[in-house]
Amino acid sequence: MRKIRKYGDPVLRKKSEEVKDIDEKLIKLINSMKETLMDRKGVGLAAVQIGVLKRIFIAYNPEVEKLITVINPEIVETQGEEIDMEGCLSFPEIYFSIKRASKTVVKGYNEDGKEIIVEGKGILSRCFQHEIDHLDGTLIIDYATEEEKKFWKEKLENLKNDS
Ligand SMILES: [Zn+2]
Repeated sequence: MRKIRKYGDPVLRKKSEEVKDIDEKLIKLINSMKETLMDRKGVGLAAVQIGVLKRIFIAYNPEVEKLITVINPEIVETQGEEIDMEGCLSFPEIYFSIKRASKTVVKGYNEDGKEIIVEGKGILSRCFQHEIDHLDGTLIIDYATEEEKKFWKEKLENLKNDS
């Protein structure tokens, strides 16, 4: 299990790098990401959230109760839009209302280095967009209105001071 980096930690603002080789070290990293996500009962986790700047995320698909790992993910198609409350393990107990595509198709590689195409609807679509944002240093607070930031001011400041 790895410590989750919280809002205020400068690593969360960095751009993650493409994965070149899927080696033993990378598989170990992915396994610890899975353990961390399951332990925290999250929906998704990007490698940067445990301090590793590599383009990898994992997501939990509630429909089939399975974890999905995507290496070097890219959004290839989106459809529709929906607004919903969205949280993040790097922003514990803080939620923002965010508009996302209601369907997202992501292309990338799995742990065996095979090209995969995964489709997410609803919460999973939201998760894919959220995790890919992390890989470019974008966070949920970047979508927040001034009012929302004011509402969460105290919690946000506490987070920043802790990290
Ligand atoms: Zn997040």
